[in-house]
Amino acid sequence: MTRSIWKSTDPKNNFPSLNEHINTEIAIIGGGITGVTTAYLLAKSGKKVVLLEAGTISGGTTGDSTGNLYAMVDKRLHHIQSKWDEETAANVARSRGEAVDLVEELVNKYQIDCSFKRVPWYLFSETDQKDETIEKEIAAAANYRLKVEELQELPVPVKVSKAIKVEGQAQFNPAAFVRGLAEKIDDGNCQIYENSEVYHIQKEEELVLSTITGTVTAKKVILATHTPKGIYGLQTALYPYREYAIAAKLNSGDFPDGIYWDTEADFHTSMRTYSKGGDNFVLVLGGHHKVGQEDDYSRFFRKLEQQARKYFDVSEISYEWSAQHYKPADGLPYIGESSDDNIYIATGFSTDGLTYGVLSAMILDDLLNGRKNEWSDLYKASRFTPVKSAKNFINENLNVAKQYIKDLPGKAEAGSFDEIAAGQGKVVEVDNEKWAVFKDDTGQVHCQSAVCTHMDCIVDWNDAEKSWDCPCHGSRFKATGEVIEGPAFSPLDKRSMNPKK
Ligand SMILES: Cc1cc2nc3c(=O)[nH]c(=O)nc-3n(C[C@H](O)[C@H](O)[C@H](O)COP(=O)(O)OP(=O)(O)OC[C@H]3O[C@@H](n4cnc5c(N)ncnc54)[C@H](O)[C@@H]3O)c2cc1C
Repeated sequence: MTRSIWKSTDPKNNFPSLNEHINTEIAIIGGGITGVTTAYLLAKSGKKVVLLEAGTISGGTTGDSTGNLYAMVDKRLHHIQSKWDEETAANVARSRGEAVDLVEELVNKYQIDCSFKRVPWYLFSETDQKDETIEKEIAAAANYRLKVEELQELPVPVKVSKAIKVEGQAQFNPAAFVRGLAEKIDDGNCQIYENSEVYHIQKEEELVLSTITGTVTAKKVILATHTPKGIYGLQTALYPYREYAIAAKLNSGDFPDGIYWDTEADFHTSMRTYSKGGDNFVLVLGGHHKVGQEDDYSRFFRKLEQQARKYFDVSEISYEWSAQHYKPADGLPYIGESSDDNIYIATGFSTDGLTYGVLSAMILDDLLNGRKNEWSDLYKASRFTPVKSAKNFINENLNVAKQYIKDLPGKAEAGSFDEIAAGQGKVVEVDNEKWAVFKDDTGQVHCQSAVCTHMDCIVDWNDAEKSWDCPCHGSRFKATGEVIEGPAFSPLDKRSMNPKK
């Protein structure tokens, strides 16, 4: 089973599930770093808040992340500078730096036990072909008053051609931080519910959120769900990718903490160290592909293991997992009021969303309290940036269009359920309809429609994670059809199986 090191090893919160009707000022859907930090700030400011989490606090992408906090960005600051301008890149670095400072302040204020440390961030090239990228990033970072140094070697056993080191970034256990902060939210102003999945939002005079066992009526709703739930035009500017991770336990070697990123374009990896219970681990993350568009999902784990063993004295791969991120069309996240009145969003974080999630909380706290926020225009969710978005918009939406064409009736392979091995799934054509058929380990067959309940694309079987993944907008469903993540609200429609098949 794939499961992150943080989700496997840390104690959970124990909030109740929603079993009643509640009226509140602000409802937050989602208990990751974005939802919990926003709830914390809003409750502190005196707002009445209800937070509804489908699973457990930090059980989404936050609990699957690497736990790195930095002013830089995955796409590199020099790209932001060339796509936008110097002022924008400087503001990105400064706003992100403030979010990291807020995390540190909260950790210190509440003594949250989450291994928070200030560490350096490194970007390195293994061959001189990528030295230019390093040079550009050195110039950009220095421009934005970050403490930059050029290096020819790293404090981990990776040979480099050139590297940049930026001091004063940070690292923590993301799940422990979010769970710890959730315990410190003013419970006079904020109620938190776990295992309370919102399956519908009704727009009446106010907004009514329904879970299976309760409802919440709110004046304003924040979708802190990583990508907005439901159908939004913005989804044409958000591109879902999956990325892979392993935590390798080391036999020997005790390396200085730091954030280590390489510049490889094909298989970009990020590494960090982590110690727990006397064991030293190295976390290696990398390899990405569009959700639902891969033939051999497990190959990424094999490649990461090879990478870890190439550099380190690995005793075993203790954890492996995968997680999702959403790339924004113009390189910046979308934070603020959505196209629906009184519904706010925070999305498009790429793989930089621990910091952007906290920054979103700072912006949303100001917006909902009627205060001016220095960064709200920069990240405004309703901005229109056709020139900066054009390249990604065209390529990515052509890709989505291709997924629909690929799935026109008659183009799918017909098949029989007998061909499906235990523990595997397959899209099978039955009576001119595509079914997502899963055979569990006992041989029992589970059938559902393969049509994604978000926008009717056909889901793909993910063999590494035993899930149905939608190649269009990134909705993911369990092998038995229940929603895992993404914009879909509803599970895949059940189909009843003809026992002879
Ligand atoms: C492999 C990987 C590594 C990463 N590492 C880093 C890193 O080191 N640093 C960094 O800054 N960023 C990193 N990121 C990005 C970062 O993890 C995410 O951007 C961030 O965690 C998003 O937080 P969130 O709170 O917005 O979303 P999530 O943590 O996904 O939280 C959303 C929550 O909403 C809940 N939810 C969804 N639908 C419903 C519903 N209908 N009802 C109720 N609840 C619902 C989910 O259960 C979930 O808990 C990484 C991403 C990936 C893929």
